[in-house]
Amino acid sequence: MKAVLFREHGGPEKLSYEDLPKPEIGMQDVLVRVKACALNHLDIWIRQGNPAYPMPLPHVPGSDIAGIVEAVGGQVDNVAVGDRVLVSPGISCWRCNECLAGRDNFCRSYALIGAMTYGGYAEYVKVPFRNVLPIPSNLSFEEAASFPLVSVTAAHMLFAQAQLEHGETVLIMGAGSGVGSVAVQMAHLAGARVITTVGSDEKTPKAVLLGAHAVINHSTEKVAERVKLLTEGRGVDVVIEHIGPAVWENCLSSLAKGGRLITCGATTGADVKLDLRYVYSRQFVIKGSYMGTRAELVKATELFGQGKLKPVIDRTYPLSEAKAAQQQLLSRKFFGKIVLTV
Ligand code: ZN
Repeated sequence: MKAVLFREHGGPEKLSYEDLPKPEIGMQDVLVRVKACALNHLDIWIRQGNPAYPMPLPHVPGSDIAGIVEAVGGQVDNVAVGDRVLVSPGISCWRCNECLAGRDNFCRSYALIGAMTYGGYAEYVKVPFRNVLPIPSNLSFEEAASFPLVSVTAAHMLFAQAQLEHGETVLIMGAGSGVGSVAVQMAHLAGARVITTVGSDEKTPKAVLLGAHAVINHSTEKVAERVKLLTEGRGVDVVIEHIGPAVWENCLSSLAKGGRLITCGATTGADVKLDLRYVYSRQFVIKGSYMGTRAELVKATELFGQGKLKPVIDRTYPLSEAKAAQQQLLSRKFFGKIVLTV
């Protein structure tokens, strides 16, 4: 089969389009004929090499996969050959207390397809049977691949971690990012007032279409000052953040007293300044968030199937052009998801 892999860590030039043997499945696996695979920043981290994601090389990345069931293992009865499926990116043990309580992203053995195992930058991928879900009939393969990772991330941040409520105000950083484009829609759907940021004016109407009530261009405006104006000096109840040092101070100064800041990423670096006096006197809650649960993906898939959430795809590339696709992701010149078609 054709696949895109890297033999050593480094820049986009390490990606190569080659022939690999088709994966062999075990009794509890499903072989998926990949039709589409969306890009995530995770793909960049693992290509560059990151101690959080140790992996044998060569490696095939790709965590957001949609395709057709090609074969199933002897113990698999939840899907059949020919079914259209999307793949839940999280792998967990399904035996520990966290997994049995539905908190599978807290499992000690939690790992990601495309990071720990070979992913979807390939014609075929092998995944555990619990990771495949049917694709709602209204969605194309590209659309189905565009939302699993970012929608569980957004749902987990907004609802499990921030406990966002109807009527609250939320600041979502980066409406044009994968997570941001889903988080804006979910927060709007939940009845929150949504303020979001973009890096250029042409992204503003797109953010409004997703449900943002106010959009701040962070390259020309001071985010925290605009937030204060928009909230009559109070600040927001919740900040959803995945960018890191470049926006950290703006995030903290946008929070109302008792506000909750949820962070799930560090695309501009890992170290931020934190004045503890500011945190305790304003009684902030700062929480980390990592991926989401399988149940959160089931719920999100239902909402996409009902048309209440819309896939946001900026551009598709054929698999053989994965390098160019990753370069576009690094350029930040996109709105929504970049998807490989296979
Ligand atoms: Zn577990």
